[in-house]
Amino acid sequence: MLELTPNEYKERKALRINPAKTCQPVGAMYAALGIYECMPHSHGSQGCCSYHRTFLTRHFKDPVMATTSSFTEGSSVFGGGSNLKTAVKNIFEIYKPRVIAVHTTCLSETIGDDIPTIIGQLENVPEGKYVIHTNTPSYVGSHITGYSNMVKSMVKYFSKNTGVSNGKICVIPGFVNPGDMREIKRILKQMGVPFIMFPDTSGVLDSPMTGKFEMYPKGGATVEEMQDAGNSSCVLGLGETAVSAAARLLGKQCKIKEHILGLPIGIEATDDFILKLTEITGKPVPEEIEEERGQLVDIMIDAHPYYDKKTAAIYGDPDTVLGLAEFCFSLGMIPKFLITGTPDPSFEIKGKELFDKFGAKDGFVKHSADLFELHQRLKSDKVDLLIGGTHGKQIARAENIPFLRMGFPILDRYVHPYMPMVGYRGAMRILELLLNVLMDKREADAADEDFELVM
Ligand code: SF4
Repeated sequence: MLELTPNEYKERKALRINPAKTCQPVGAMYAALGIYECMPHSHGSQGCCSYHRTFLTRHFKDPVMATTSSFTEGSSVFGGGSNLKTAVKNIFEIYKPRVIAVHTTCLSETIGDDIPTIIGQLENVPEGKYVIHTNTPSYVGSHITGYSNMVKSMVKYFSKNTGVSNGKICVIPGFVNPGDMREIKRILKQMGVPFIMFPDTSGVLDSPMTGKFEMYPKGGATVEEMQDAGNSSCVLGLGETAVSAAARLLGKQCKIKEHILGLPIGIEATDDFILKLTEITGKPVPEEIEEERGQLVDIMIDAHPYYDKKTAAIYGDPDTVLGLAEFCFSLGMIPKFLITGTPDPSFEIKGKELFDKFGAKDGFVKHSADLFELHQRLKSDKVDLLIGGTHGKQIARAENIPFLRMGFPILDRYVHPYMPMVGYRGAMRILELLLNVLMDKREADAADEDFELVM
């Protein structure tokens, strides 16, 4: 029987309790929604598709459309090829997408369906419409792997270098909210940088209420944009774990230069992003961006007594955790635990580099970990702040630790999909939320006679 006991951690190899990740198709489905007029298609049983749609809908608070090959016992034994062919015909007839983006599931991977061959045999794909696919076996990787795989497929199926430069840079954002994608585009426009960005879920999963249901909201990258991405002067991937594979593939396939950065979370990573844009394009940093950075620095100075030297545990997706950790370090905080459920050995290397850079001697970083382990470790080494998605709320409650919901998934709050955590404005928002939970705790812990004086 596994128990939460201070000073006693038992290594587990084959059991995950409260995982800090979800399954590959969730990420693939999310990436596919970043294509304009795209229907994500789950090649497996109805249960998988329902779960993935529900999970995304609960985080984004917007209905997530997707179709399924609806495997039965027969398709599980004899293969799902005929189901997929029937599905493609029905989907084009009924839902009229421009693209069907197929991802596999544990079941179709286990029986070994050969999706490229099945797609090659399709006879009813209308002119100018496309069926693309990626493999997403969920017994390996995580939703981040699935996102990475689907974005790579977008490159593989669409992007070509026709020899005529479009004078743009291609930006591939990591696994972030639509509000972040919107913010990245705002910064690029402020900088006067012509760009193509895909996937792009802004305008899809943060679309406004109009009173009219739209199967395909107006957001998302078009097929033409993804095709033209191959004519860009270079590609900039934002998020090493989530999109470096796609950026490298685009670079290799279309013979354009590739640049890979971490997610621009916090002041240092945003500086890196802005400076990379100036280096690539030769454009100066506009005054508005300098002003935003100055505002962030002003807030950091004003509020520093409340966060300085506070310890934190951060868990979630690798690129997000590393970005948040660097921001916390640059605030003067001490992130002690960095945890991701995504299998990614480079996460531990980069985490240790961060600890070294900021002189943190006893930091703990682990990939393929779970929240039970984090809780077990926090029993004997408590921190001042817990940062991550909804599934850490029981730890925060049990240990009475202030809890900042940040990253994915956030199932029990609203508004987050619309708000950025990237860029200087995103950093201001993180700082506001972070300070709120720390200051709320000070007030909650204050004795009655001191309460009025707590500032
Ligand atoms: S069976 Fe596999 S693909 Fe389906 S929901 Fe479970 S982990 Fe995900």
